[in-house]
Parts: sequence; C-alpha cells; structure tokens
Amino acid sequence: GKRTNMSIKDQRESLPAYKMRKQFLEAVHQYQLLIVVGDTGSGKTTQLTQYLAEDGFADAGVIGCTQPRRVAAMSVAARVADEVGCRVGEEVGYTIRFEDKTSDSTRIKYMTDGIMQREILLDPELNRYSVIMLDEAHERTIATDVLFGLLKKTLKRRPDMKLIVTSATLDADKFSSYFNSCPILTIPGRTYPVEIMYSREPESDYLDAALTTVMQIHLTEPPGDILLFLTGKEEIDTSAEILYERMKALGPAVPELMILPIYGALPSEIASRIFEPAPEGTRKVVIATNIAETSITIDGIYFVVDPGFVKQTAYDAKLGMDRLQVTPISQAQAKQRAGRAGRTGPGKCFRLYTESAFQSEMLPTTIPEIQRQNLANTILMLKAMGINDLLGFDFMDPPPTNTMLTALEELYALSALDEEGLLTRLGRRMADFPMEPSLAKSLIMSIELGCSDEMLSIVAMISAVQTVFHRPKDKQQQADAKKAKFHDAAGDHLTLLNVYQGWKLAGKNDPWCFENFIQPKSMRRAEDVRKQLIQILERHKLRILSCGRDTTRVRQALCSGFFRNSARKDPTEGYKTLVESTPVYLHPSSSLFGKQAEHVIYHSLVETTREYMHNVSVIEPKWLVEAAPTFFRVAGEKGGLSERKKRERIEPLFNRFVGEDE
Ligand code: ADP
Ligand code: MG
Repeated sequence: GKRTNMSIKDQRESLPAYKMRKQFLEAVHQYQLLIVVGDTGSGKTTQLTQYLAEDGFADAGVIGCTQPRRVAAMSVAARVADEVGCRVGEEVGYTIRFEDKTSDSTRIKYMTDGIMQREILLDPELNRYSVIMLDEAHERTIATDVLFGLLKKTLKRRPDMKLIVTSATLDADKFSSYFNSCPILTIPGRTYPVEIMYSREPESDYLDAALTTVMQIHLTEPPGDILLFLTGKEEIDTSAEILYERMKALGPAVPELMILPIYGALPSEIASRIFEPAPEGTRKVVIATNIAETSITIDGIYFVVDPGFVKQTAYDAKLGMDRLQVTPISQAQAKQRAGRAGRTGPGKCFRLYTESAFQSEMLPTTIPEIQRQNLANTILMLKAMGINDLLGFDFMDPPPTNTMLTALEELYALSALDEEGLLTRLGRRMADFPMEPSLAKSLIMSIELGCSDEMLSIVAMISAVQTVFHRPKDKQQQADAKKAKFHDAAGDHLTLLNVYQGWKLAGKNDPWCFENFIQPKSMRRAEDVRKQLIQILERHKLRILSCGRDTTRVRQALCSGFFRNSARKDPTEGYKTLVESTPVYLHPSSSLFGKQAEHVIYHSLVETTREYMHNVSVIEPKWLVEAAPTFFRVAGEKGGLSERKKRERIEPLFNRFVGEDE
C-alpha cells in the first residue's frame, strides 16, 4: 500500500505523462492534430484530459475522450472525477450506450467510440467539443477506425477543434502518415525488466495450467500481485471459484489470496475494488479479460500469467453473422500482457505456450476489427451520415470488398437500402436506434403490427443484459422450476416478455425478483433501456401500441428483422438453418427445449460444445416470405442462397452506388 499514503497531487505528478505536460500543451496549441504514444499506465487517459481542462480548453467547449470499452469509460471517469474532486456526472462524466452520466456542467466527457459515432450522426461538426481525444487507438475497434475517417473530415470544417490520437503501441508511424504526417509525442516509459517464462510443451488444458501457475506463484514467489488473463465471464467466474476452493483446502497456514475478477459486464462497484491495494500480508490475484491488457491499469502487479487466448468477434461467412470465438492472441498482445508485470518493479511473465508457438503460430499484430467483422451496422450509420461512397471512404485499413458486399446485401434484404443502394426511410429510422439493424427493424415493424409495447419490453430485455435469470450453482433446480413458470409455448422472446410483465405487475419490486430467481439489477437496467427507447420512438412520433394476448404479431415483427436467422427441425436431431443448412441446436435452457417446433427463428448463435441458438421463437414459414420476399424467393429456388447467387444479386447494386457522393 505505497500509494494509499500519497496525495492525489503527488500521485498525479508521479506519472510519466506529467513530465511531458508542458510539451504536450504546447504541441496542442501549435497543431490541430497530434499523436501521443505512451505505455499503458503512463497517464494518457486520466491526465491528458485534465491538462487540457487546466489549460483552458474546457472553456471553449467539452473535452471528449473516446474509449473502445464501456467498462473503461466508466472506471476512468470515476477516477478522474476523484482526482478533480467532483462526482461523476458533474465536471467529469461519461456516456455509454443506454447510460448517460453527464450534465450541462460536464467539461470532461468519457464515452465509448460507438457513442461518439452517434453524436456525429446528430451533429457532424461536433460543435459542443473543443478537443476530441481518440484514446486507445491501438485497439483498432471498428468504431474508432470509422472515427478516424469521420474526424479527419470534421477537422477541415472546424479549424478551431483539436484532435488527439493516443496509442499504447509504436505503430505511431502508420498513424502519423494516415493523419497527414502529424507530429508524434512520445511519453518516455518507466518500465522494469520482465523475465519471460514459456511452457516447455503445449498445454492441453490452459485453464488448469493457469490456475496451477497462480497457486505456484502464490506459494513460492516473493510478494507481489498476480494478473491472470482469461477469455470471458464464465471462465473467470469458474476459475475464481476453483482458486477459492484450492485455497480453502490449504487451510490457514498459507498467506491469504484475494481473488478479484474483472470483465466487461461486471457491475462498476465491484470493478473499483481491483484498484485497491491488498492488505498487508495478502496477495491479490486479478483475473481479467484482455480489458487489463491496455485499457485498465492495476498497480502492484509483479506476475502475469498469460495462457495466450482472447475471445473476439469474427465474421463467420458460413453462418452469415458475427460470432464470439476464442482465438490465439498476437505477438503484440503477448508483449503488452507481459509488460503489465514490469510497472512497479522487475517482474515475471508466465506464458502458457511454447516459445516456438509464440514465434511461428502467433500473428505479429492483431487484425483490425474492421477487417474481420460484420459491417452492416457501420454501413447503415455511414449512409445515414450521407456517406455513400464506401470505396472512397478514408479508411486506415479498408475492409475487404466482400465484407462490404455482405453488409450491403444484408441491409438491402432488410429494406434499409433500396435498389439504388440508397438509404430508405426505414433505413434512416433504423440508424437512430443504437442496436443491431435486425433488432431495430423488428422494433420499427412492431409499430405497424400494433405490438410495439410488447416489442419494446423484449428488445429492452435483450439489449440490456446477457440474462435476467439467476441460476446459483447450489439452487439450480429451484431456479429452473421458477423459470419454467414464465415459459411461453411460443418461445424465449415471449418468455422474456412474461418476465417483464410479471415484474411490472408485482410493482417492480426486488422481493418478487428474489423469489423468482430474477436479477433485480438486470430488470432495472432493462427498464432504463426501455425508457430510452420510448424517447426515440417519441422523437419519431411513432406510436406505442399493445397487441394484448395476440402475441403472434410479436413473432411476425421479429421475423421482419431476423428472417436470416431461421431454422427448420431436422429429422435426425436439432435444426438446420434455412439459409445455409448449418446444423444448430436448442439449448436446454430454451423454453422450446424438448418441444417439437418445426420452424424457428433465433436471435444469435453461441458456440460452446455445439452451435446453440440463443433466444428462439416458433414461427410460420410464410411470415418469413412476407418479411423478405426477394430474399426468400431466391433462397427457395435453390434450397439455399449460394455465394454466387448472392454476389449476382448484390453486385449490380453495389456497382451502381459506389462513387455517388453528393
Ligand atoms: P494510460 O491511459 O496511459 O494507460 P491511465 O491514465 O489510465 O494510463 O492511468 C494512469 C494511472 O492512474 C495508472 O497507473 C493507475 O495506477 C491509475 N489509475 C487509473 N485508474 C484508476 C482507478 N480507477 N483507481 C485507481 N488508480 C487508477
Ligand atoms: Mg488509457
């Protein structure tokens, strides 16, 4: 606990960024565009915005700082508010999807890159802002990549505005040449050597190897906290439990181990605990997703355990959608991870893969998201901004043409684009809803079908949280029995609706939630999302209508957005998708499990041991044809839509509208 005794001022002045404060501010005054490179933890995110505010930039407008991750935006805003001495939402605030913690007095605003994109949609000049800081640019999320191009344009129209791009890695030259050869300011690092240890042989079970390594460090190494990188919530929670049990088995003779999980979905109040130093004589192990790679810095880490994997979304051409997949990290990521151990003193990094795997199997750098993910959302947004010339858009790394074609085809099938490839009225409306185009369309169509009240609840429940159901390990049977009471014969979407309506009927109270194994926080969040969606509907003067018991319409509305995610019962076992005939399955947790529904649609696919459909509803095939006549006419002819067919249909459309910017 060194830093607990340090005043905030001392802490701030001890950061590497402080030495560059004067130079930084001079450069910002002199240049419109500036790149700042500095190791993770050097103070870029928390300090640079404050320097700007202290120097008067906040008087001319808001200082906006983008973060690729929601948790980072929240936790950094909390930290900076602390340093400034205000509450979050006052001078310092944050905005993430469906959550706005800012006010008129906010001068430093952290937000996700997705939110910044939406703000450009509303005000392309970004007149409220005096400075924009595109932070964590090395992460290369789609939204940040698109912001590169959009903000370059904005700068031309706003000579008084400043743009700062920050990165933790040294591909700054590439950045600089993209940003009109702008200057690069480097914050000198302050890192200690990190000893790298490799596994001698490939690990067959990286999770087990990771936990064993953590225990070994704890029992044999000198004091110093541990950072373990895992891929996601479930893995992290399971590991935390196993570690806890192993420690318990060892009894009170061994020093205490504080186990602290952190991942994207974790509520903020738990997340802040990871920054607190471990009590005297105790060691801390932080189990994190790659959020701790660069976006969040935890002090006191001497040991890093790196199994070498990350969960990332990638476009799966066969399924025609994005999917989360566990994949090996890149060499650049491995170096970042190791670096986390050398911030407080000389450290050690345990790589749970062989040196030859590092050399020959890992890519040098991670492929930018824009080159591997579905772009339907992004293209819809760009079109809503009046940007039609997609091939001419100033991408740092352009997405593959094929990826653009797929996205265009998807938007066309959704009727968001017309024959000319121009945005339809429906498409423009869809762009105003901060969610995937399919969900936006279902919501808009539900108005026509007279069931928007019901659809609002379903969309809110799906968008707000991963699951509202609470299923504790020691009470699974009770939880399942309670859940079964909400089950709707028509499927999971209506089951979610039943939960929402039950909660509403019970006066939205917590005891009802506990009794029914529902997470009260998740319900409140869903309610919050629902209210915000209502505001968007009202802005568009769209009506909120209830269909009462006639919930067939809800499923019809869902078909209008999710017709591609349709599947038919297979005579053997499970289902086959209508579009590509891929085998998919009902998860035991689905309300349709064990029932014999012939045709279904699903919200998404989750691969664990099998390809499981998530949120599944029973439908009639004719609804699909009504929802997307052109799409299913072609699909019906051949019993499936071949790649060639798709190209044939979409290519003329594509050729017609590229290069037609006003
Ligand atoms: P960078 O953006 O360069 O990676 P940051 O500005 O995020 O660096 O962090 C600077 C320092 O502030 C870090 O070393 C970390 O110790 C401290 N810090 C950041 N967030 C918090 C927090 N929520 N609680 C305590 N300390 C924090
Ligand atoms: Mg940062």
